[in-house]
Amino acid sequence: MRPNSQVFKHKSSHDTEREFGGTLGAICIPIFLPLTVLFLISVSRSPEASVLQWPPPLPSSDQLWDPLALVILLGWIALHVLLYSMPFGKVSEGLVLRDGSRLKYPINGFHSLCISSVLLMLLVGLRAPLGYLFELLLPLAVCAIAVSFLFSVYLYIRSFWAPSHALALGGNTGNPLYDFFIGRELNPRIGNFDLKYFCELRPGLIGWVVINLGMLMKEVELRGSPSLAMILVNSFQLLYVADALWNEEAVLTTMDIVHDGFGFMLVFGDLAWVPFTYSLQAAFLVVHPQALSSLGAAVIVALNGIGYYIFRKSNSQKNQFRRDPSHPSVARLETIATATGKRLLVSGWWGLVRHPNYLGDLLMALAWSLPCGFSHLLPYFYVIYFTILLIHREDRDERQCRAKYGLAWDTYCRRVPYRIFPYIY
Ligand code: NDP
Repeated sequence: MRPNSQVFKHKSSHDTEREFGGTLGAICIPIFLPLTVLFLISVSRSPEASVLQWPPPLPSSDQLWDPLALVILLGWIALHVLLYSMPFGKVSEGLVLRDGSRLKYPINGFHSLCISSVLLMLLVGLRAPLGYLFELLLPLAVCAIAVSFLFSVYLYIRSFWAPSHALALGGNTGNPLYDFFIGRELNPRIGNFDLKYFCELRPGLIGWVVINLGMLMKEVELRGSPSLAMILVNSFQLLYVADALWNEEAVLTTMDIVHDGFGFMLVFGDLAWVPFTYSLQAAFLVVHPQALSSLGAAVIVALNGIGYYIFRKSNSQKNQFRRDPSHPSVARLETIATATGKRLLVSGWWGLVRHPNYLGDLLMALAWSLPCGFSHLLPYFYVIYFTILLIHREDRDERQCRAKYGLAWDTYCRRVPYRIFPYIY
């Protein structure tokens, strides 16, 4: 999260085993997923808002292109390049690389969010028509997809100048289509500017909440004030993005940064998939307003609060334990030893289920869909997709942990039998 761009994180890293269906997947996914983004946006604004409607609500070509969208997208990316380069916040080191070095990263994503918010508030104060983002959504998505393709081609070509230790272990198969898709170079940089780290949590993730705000402003234009459902969706997702940026340092130990090459899969996930599919609920509400009672809203707020609490507490507990197991907040938790010298928590949040952080994330995902009512499936796209993603991711993580920890992992699984949902799964 890091809603961060984690759209396709479920791949292994350090071998040449091909994932996502190998070459066939590497050909089909870059065609199929961009079309899915455009299709879902078109469905969200059609009167039926049904993914099953026939004929499907395909956009006409003049709905897909607007030069203003390209100007806004490039301007937005340029603003974030500038904010990334500003000397605010601390500088952190990533994990040790294969050549023994450690890269430095600016931890100023939260500053970027705050400055972007102030600029947006100024625009709102100046009565800039932010609601026009609704009309521009399809052209913006087309431009983001095009930029993702061009950028990935650039990354692929430049990777041939990178030293071999700078290549991702799983991204150098020699098959151009697969390597382009999965990413060859691990940490492509221009000077000190880290291209992958920049894309992970900034233009796309912050862009997501800006699109949400644009949808809210469109609602104000159409109906005079934002609906309660729209306010809830905007607030919940802003909290999620702000949390990811507040805890930005945590991204440095994720599989995206540590193992995955930077190729089309991550670029498209970061720049197109996250901002344009994660904002579908807000886009849906513009055309399909939903009445929400105070009681219903209170239940949904409580659900989001519980989900957030579980998500944040469990992630923080494990991060704290991994950083400093003797810290008073985790020192008294029960643990089991492993042959690697690392210990596994078997009490606290990680004694409840083996992935309490996923449980919290999924409860939040449900709370983001519920304000959209029960009449349509489309607003539940995120929670359905995310459930599949996290179940697959959990399965992959289990296999990696079993390989890493052997018998100790089996003991943990016996002590904590449920994976994500207590007494269910
Ligand atoms: P996790 O934070 O779940 O980390 C898994 C790792 O934690 C394991 O590989 C193991 O690593 C360690 N671990 C597992 N069990 C224990 C234990 N009992 N005690 C101590 N350490 C343990 O990884 P993710 O990157 O999958 O998830 C991070 C967050 O990001 C989650 O909250 C998830 O929901 C969210 N996310 C959001 C996405 C989105 O698009 N919105 C997409 C993907 C994830 P080791 O032992 O080596 O430390």
